[in-house]
Amino acid sequence: MTEDNGIAANLAAVKGRIAEAARAAGRAPETVELVAISKTKPAEAILAAIAAGQRVFGENRVQEAEEKWPVLRAAHPEVSLHLVGPLQRNKLRRAVALFDVIQSVDREKLAAALAEEMAASGRRLGCFVQVNTGEEPQKAGVLPTEVDAFVAACRNRFGLDVRGLMCIPPVDEEPSLHFALLAEMARRNGLAQLSMGMSDDFEVAVRFGATHVRVGTALFGGRPPLDPQAG
Ligand SMILES: *Cc1c(COP(=O)(O)O)cnc(C)c1O
Repeated sequence: MTEDNGIAANLAAVKGRIAEAARAAGRAPETVELVAISKTKPAEAILAAIAAGQRVFGENRVQEAEEKWPVLRAAHPEVSLHLVGPLQRNKLRRAVALFDVIQSVDREKLAAALAEEMAASGRRLGCFVQVNTGEEPQKAGVLPTEVDAFVAACRNRFGLDVRGLMCIPPVDEEPSLHFALLAEMARRNGLAQLSMGMSDDFEVAVRFGATHVRVGTALFGGRPPLDPQAG
């Protein structure tokens, strides 16, 4: 490795912090999966993370992922890729072809179309239901009051492989309340996985039971200011 812009060191530091937070919560560090969010970052940065041992990545835009990932995946078939941003119907086929996990399932039409496309393509992706825990009008995700019915529909009507819940708390609120709420909703729905926590709050998320933390900036550095946040 020559120039990796500190990515290997960042990765080691983030993993160390995850492990420490897990142990402090009485959890085994391996129960927390680090999803490296590589949106806006070039292939070189992703390759540096792969070289440093990272295997799970996330992108928030189908089109950007299509520009970067087919080549990377061909060279590194062991890597898995999560979609953490909104999914439109017109990009659904391409998303099912490229990603392994969709973390942003949040409406019945999308769930139905995903099920149909998975059946047609023979690819069965893992799914997370995204929950709008802060009930923010501009944000994606099902409302907390609708989660139980929506999870049931995803499972029973559409036959999706629902593994857990995902949330992006409001930026100006204490995230722990949202993490606790998400954990409780997952528990009562018998869902084992929780995708929550980003660069600023992943240790808190681990304390509240996160099984997947989605970390971008702390691994790859900052992004341009007008970065379109998922949801
Ligand atoms: C960008 C993004 C992240 C990573 O955010 P950082 O603050 O850079 O760690 C996590 N989840 C989603 C859905 C994102 O869009």
